[in-house]
Amino acid sequence: MKTTKTIHLKNRPTGKPELTDFDFTTSEIPELKEGDVLLRSKYVSVDPYLRGRMSDAPSYVESFELNKPIASGSIAEVLESKNSNFSKGDHVSGMLQWKETQVATADGLIKVDPDKAPLSAYLGILGMTGLTAYLGLTEIGKPKEGETLLVSGAAGAVGSVVGQIGKILGLRVVGIAGTDEKIALLKSEFGFDEAINYKTTENMTEAITEVCPDGVDVYFDNVGGEISEAVLFNINTFSRTVNCGAISVYNNTEPPKSMSVQPFLIKKSSSMQGFIVHNFADMHPAGIQQLAEWLDQDKLKYTETIRAGFENIPQAFLDLFEGKNKGKMVVKI
Ligand code: NAP
Repeated sequence: MKTTKTIHLKNRPTGKPELTDFDFTTSEIPELKEGDVLLRSKYVSVDPYLRGRMSDAPSYVESFELNKPIASGSIAEVLESKNSNFSKGDHVSGMLQWKETQVATADGLIKVDPDKAPLSAYLGILGMTGLTAYLGLTEIGKPKEGETLLVSGAAGAVGSVVGQIGKILGLRVVGIAGTDEKIALLKSEFGFDEAINYKTTENMTEAITEVCPDGVDVYFDNVGGEISEAVLFNINTFSRTVNCGAISVYNNTEPPKSMSVQPFLIKKSSSMQGFIVHNFADMHPAGIQQLAEWLDQDKLKYTETIRAGFENIPQAFLDLFEGKNKGKMVVKI
């Protein structure tokens, strides 16, 4: 029987995940059954939410099993098909295991067209993170022209798209990110009006007040923690906070000692709402269409950090927590 390189979860990480939490192994490739496809991975997405799946705490998505393959959004080429909907040579997007080659059922596989966009784009701007940006901002943030939008994690896959959509919709947009290079990118490439480097700023509350003199109407929060506490001092009456992610606390080993948000929200009649992009599954096709249209019209740009080599998937994942990506982090196999 043929075998393939595979990456298993070896340990449930405590605190920051490490390379030793992953096991590089080989697994057998079974024979195709009726309805199956044989896939070769081309691009693998690494995402902060995978950290949650590595722990055994109950969440909206099931935990990875120890000594079993990790899975994430991926693009693959069909090598062989016993499914009438897919042919050899097709490219598909789906939740696939961290294997070079694998047999999969067609459940959840979507054909993608390499002639319409680079394959990696279907994991980012035309995939899960693009949809998260678009639907989170429009459905939860309910932005109105002329308002001020503040985005944390602004130079990442979701954040860089949120800011640009904010500009398309006529908002004043301010970003928060972790390097001067990212700050420059936000302003020069993505059209943000202002940006703050949280790593070199001593007083975030004051820095936000300075660049948001009219206060914050919509806060798109990708990071949580202390940055988001500083934002609370700057929120406007009837402002909306979109709780998209909280990467700053994903590796905490103790529940975070957070500031009490209630007095801020009450005083400002302000709301905060968490969401998962899958809440809006019925809106995904229209969302992709809108994102593709803006891309075609050059209203949206995107950047990617592309790592090469199957063996480098775990390191690419770890590097998300060090801010080593600009835009979407993907691994080319
Ligand atoms: P990303 O922003 O492309 O990558 C993660 C970025 O987070 C890093 O580049 C880093 O940038 C920043 N970061 C890392 N540690 C940090 C810390 N301690 N404090 C502040 N910033 C830190 O990732 P993404 O895929 O776009 O995801 C962004 C957020 O959205 C994540 O929290 C993710 O879990 C969430 N998300 C939610 C949904 C949903 O359905 N709700 C869907 C997708 C993603 P810096 O250099 O700026 O620090």
